[in-house]
Amino acid sequence: MERAVFLDRDGTLIEYRSYPGDPGDVKLAPGAAEALRRLKGLNFRLVVVTNQSGVARGYFDESAVEKIHGRIRELLQPEGIAPDAFYYCPHGPAEEGYEGCCCRKPLPGMILQAAKDLGLDPGKSWMIGDSACDIRAGLSGGCRAILLRTGRGAESELELFSAFTVGQKEKSGTMFSVADDLRAAAGLIVQAETGFST
Ligand SMILES: [Mg+2]
Ligand SMILES: [Zn+2]
Repeated sequence: MERAVFLDRDGTLIEYRSYPGDPGDVKLAPGAAEALRRLKGLNFRLVVVTNQSGVARGYFDESAVEKIHGRIRELLQPEGIAPDAFYYCPHGPAEEGYEGCCCRKPLPGMILQAAKDLGLDPGKSWMIGDSACDIRAGLSGGCRAILLRTGRGAESELELFSAFTVGQKEKSGTMFSVADDLRAAAGLIVQAETGFST
């Protein structure tokens, strides 16, 4: 079984915008291509997992989501790097009255589906994202997790640390790391996997 780095999209792989629907607005996060190349160099598959409730909310349709993913591929192509797969949840949050689903992060549905589809071992994999829901999805999917301080990371860090330190027991586990950006997160993974720091 192979290992993967699961990547959140908005605020992690590309610059944060709320409800991005226009491929023309897509900007890779600084250092993203280099970070992905380093991870690929360690034989990690790269799988994007993103909540896109804008679909359920009627802000854009699934073809707009696909176009954004096409644009991300286009921007990464000259860098010689390509994500192995994109998974997205088009559903809305149950707490806002939308029908529940099992793919919307913080649930690990997309990670588990990708693991099944691509033959990945979550126990040897990582989840990187800028939201508390990314960390919760990663940990409950059985991965190690890294929270970025980009995007919505600063508020997520507060939320996660208060949840985890107040002793609210999460059966998914309590360990995650924090990194300033995707480049730094790749550095942490390289260090954890090879023992070399960069
Ligand atoms: Mg995000
Ligand atoms: Zn869903």
